[in-house]
Amino acid sequence: MGTHTAEQPAPVADLSVPTRTGLLIIGASQSGVQLAVSLRALGFDEHITLLGDEDHRPYQRPALSKEFLQGTVESESLIFRSNEYWAEHNVDLVKGEYIVRIDRDADGSGIAHASSGRHFPFKRLALTVGARARKLEIDGGDLDGVLYLRNADDALALKARVGDAQDVVVIGGGFIGLEAASSLQKMGKNVTVLEFGPRLVGRAVGEETAEYFLQAHRARGLDIRLNTSAARLTATDGGRSVAGVELQDGTLLPAQIVLVGIGVIPNTQLAEQLGLTVDNGIVVDRYALASDGTTVAIGDCANMPNPVPGAEPGERIRLESVNNAIEHAKVAAYSLTGRREEYAGIPWFWSNQADLKLQIAGLCNGYDRTVLRSDEERGKFSVLYYRRGQVIAADCVNAPLDFMAVKNALAKGRNIPADAAADPATPLKTITTDS
Ligand SMILES: Cc1cc2nc3c(=O)[nH]c(=O)nc-3n(C[C@H](O)[C@H](O)[C@H](O)COP(=O)(O)OP(=O)(O)OC[C@H]3O[C@@H](n4cnc5c(N)ncnc54)[C@H](O)[C@@H]3O)c2cc1C
Repeated sequence: MGTHTAEQPAPVADLSVPTRTGLLIIGASQSGVQLAVSLRALGFDEHITLLGDEDHRPYQRPALSKEFLQGTVESESLIFRSNEYWAEHNVDLVKGEYIVRIDRDADGSGIAHASSGRHFPFKRLALTVGARARKLEIDGGDLDGVLYLRNADDALALKARVGDAQDVVVIGGGFIGLEAASSLQKMGKNVTVLEFGPRLVGRAVGEETAEYFLQAHRARGLDIRLNTSAARLTATDGGRSVAGVELQDGTLLPAQIVLVGIGVIPNTQLAEQLGLTVDNGIVVDRYALASDGTTVAIGDCANMPNPVPGAEPGERIRLESVNNAIEHAKVAAYSLTGRREEYAGIPWFWSNQADLKLQIAGLCNGYDRTVLRSDEERGKFSVLYYRRGQVIAADCVNAPLDFMAVKNALAKGRNIPADAAADPATPLKTITTDS
């Protein structure tokens, strides 16, 4: 390190033209963290800035609707990596900075501007900006006590209020809504779930699985109302706090908390401002490169070619799962180190609701046949999805062996003949075939 005397003043950095080196990762969560970790594992030696707008060290979200909400895990155990890890790996972790604008030159380098006024120069850019909760836009939607569950602050706000609440209405019968509803019910709350559509969990699972969850939750005492939407929220406390939900048919449900889980919107604002192609997420190629050929975009914010072997040509997909964030980050890490590697493995997903442990292997889009394997006595249930005779996905509840068998078959391009799969007593791995 050099020293400077009074005769030789230290050079003053020209802040108007910051040196544009290194990689800037915007979004410090599942995919951003994995990208930084994978890059270092591949020997990427340029400086990395991992920047996010949340005030917390990067943490895992899945527990927010499950163990963390129920109070069975501490926040510290959700943190991905220690401060020491980031320091040792030459990654600058920047918290609490929200990027509002990016200026960029033709070579792809540029400067990201935060709402605080700070700016972050970069040579390469990664967008790992995820998705935000869709807002409930009805009368009373902004009352105190109307809550969401996308990030740690949301979970802390819910936990802070839950002690004083007896009645909770969950709006939205998707994964997050059902997980949170099960957790809140376990915590002794009187929970009602309102689902606008004719079945639970939208298009993420097939009809049999949706029906299974409906019956299983009802049998466990959860009040689930399908084809039901909230017309408006009523208020108490001088019009400040939520008091109830009025349904379209005029029914009034008391609620000290209304938890909204009606899906997410991918964060594409920065990509749009950069002129990147956007269509239900930031459009990327098989190597996680956006339309400019240099920015990588991965995880919940990215719309990518369907990576499942045998997918229809041109089929695209935006996935919201931990496994996808991790695998997609690995693809991007290869791209940033000059290699071309495609998505490895089969997309998979899990959701824990009460004692129901759902694991999904593959993507069921475009299936033309299902095979049901149900073992009521053991509380196991699986649905296998087929397209033109080839297994493409499975939903497995408390059936990890079925899940593993389908996931392995998909990864190896093998099949599990539908007729043989229908007998729940036959282990699927014993009937897997080469085509
Ligand atoms: C409650 C909950 C439970 C879940 N449970 C499961 C589960 O059981 N299984 C499963 O597979 N998946 C689950 N998921 C989904 C999983 O957590 C997500 O798929 C994963 O977090 C996606 O990671 P990501 O990094 O792509 O995006 P995100 O996790 O959304 O992270 C994006 C980050 O970027 C930040 N950001 C956005 N814009 C800016 C900006 N302009 N400047 C700075 N920072 C910005 C955001 O604040 C956020 O911190 C769950 C999600 C939630 C919310």
